[in-house]
Amino acid sequence: MSKSKAIYSNRCWLEGKLQPATVTFAEGVITNILPYKTNDAEDVGDAIIMPGAIDAHVHINEPGRTEWEGFDTATQAAAAGGITTIVDMPLNASPVTTTLAAMQEKLAAATNKLHVNVGLYGGLIPNNIKDLEDLIKAGVLGIKCFLVHSGIDEFPNVGAVEMEQALPILAKYNIPLLAHCEIDETKANSDLASNPTNYQSYLASRPKAWENEAVDLMIDLCSKYKTPVHIVHVSSAEALPAIAKAKANGLPLTAETCPHYLLFEAETIPDANTLYKCAPPIREKANNDLLKKALTDGTLNFIATDHSPAPPAIKEIESGNYAKAWGGIAGLQFLLSGSWTSLKDSMSIEKFIPLLTEHPATFLNINHRKGSIKIGYDADLVIWQPDESFFVTTESIFHKHQLSPYCNKTLFGKISQTIVNGKTAFKDEKIVEKNAGTIVYSVSNNQ
Ligand SMILES: [Zn+2]
Repeated sequence: MSKSKAIYSNRCWLEGKLQPATVTFAEGVITNILPYKTNDAEDVGDAIIMPGAIDAHVHINEPGRTEWEGFDTATQAAAAGGITTIVDMPLNASPVTTTLAAMQEKLAAATNKLHVNVGLYGGLIPNNIKDLEDLIKAGVLGIKCFLVHSGIDEFPNVGAVEMEQALPILAKYNIPLLAHCEIDETKANSDLASNPTNYQSYLASRPKAWENEAVDLMIDLCSKYKTPVHIVHVSSAEALPAIAKAKANGLPLTAETCPHYLLFEAETIPDANTLYKCAPPIREKANNDLLKKALTDGTLNFIATDHSPAPPAIKEIESGNYAKAWGGIAGLQFLLSGSWTSLKDSMSIEKFIPLLTEHPATFLNINHRKGSIKIGYDADLVIWQPDESFFVTTESIFHKHQLSPYCNKTLFGKISQTIVNGKTAFKDEKIVEKNAGTIVYSVSNNQ
């Protein structure tokens, strides 16, 4: 038996309220919660103790593209950012996670590199319907697809035909279909080809209409099959009314947005600075204010980073070419601080905390052991100071590459400690205990 550990705060997140409490844990599990400070407790004062943040949308790229990112660096960055569980997308690793064999290769590659917990998604591409059930039985937390070219040739996009084949299989296991919602049928009115370093030209090259059309298609499919459908990284606020209506009609539809769509705005993104390139693109302030409102009113369920880094050459840092650069933002470490910085003036902390904890846990169907502080739940905790700001230096970034639009920014929400399965993964700016994480399997798998 390992010794139990206790932490006390004046502001512990319990049952939807910040309140004084000591949380005790042993063997990776929360064993006691008391409404006062116990003698053996580490006292963190007014710092918030809450469930570790959950990032349901991360591209780790290992195996196969480890020069882009890997399990070792990504999970250290997560721990430094107050995240205790991340879920890895079926691309951009190679092989892509569209078969059981590829999933097993990924699990093997992750061995001894998990400093936070990691779940996996499987992928839906043309011609792998036969593989979905194997992936689900092996414990993936969802199945992801693209409705437009993914940027990775091994992961082609699908259309309604393939999704209609997949949805009855997913329904059988109550596993969500996650969709990258852009359909490029409307002609974009952009001069990006002749003006490739201009941000406004890049923005115009991926119009809101692409997203809106794709979201409408996903809502139709959700309505037809009555099975969980999830819209990843909503950027177009024009898609929000349709999402809200579908939810009001009782459809099992969920949606996320990302910190970069909330914190940055098209009006101030510099030309030739491809750190900000992602798809769908970061849009204008008025649009982004509506995304914030949608997080408040429940139209959007949670926030995830869509961490999708690439090496400097592939990110076209030198050329600043928005047409050629990899579309993806490196932001894993800044899920909590980036989101809080963007929302703190418009949202209460009580409204904010579930967006990174209970809500993603519920979406992933892991809320019986993660996303809340309760006796018997996993001891996944973060201790942080919402009022404390910090300046993001290159040296403080744990991602494989220190290239991020969050660099040289002042953010609020300093992480002082991250506890993963009862082990101190991160404390006082340093990784403390390595390999604290485990693989998180779905409940439909028997492992
Ligand atoms: Zn993504």
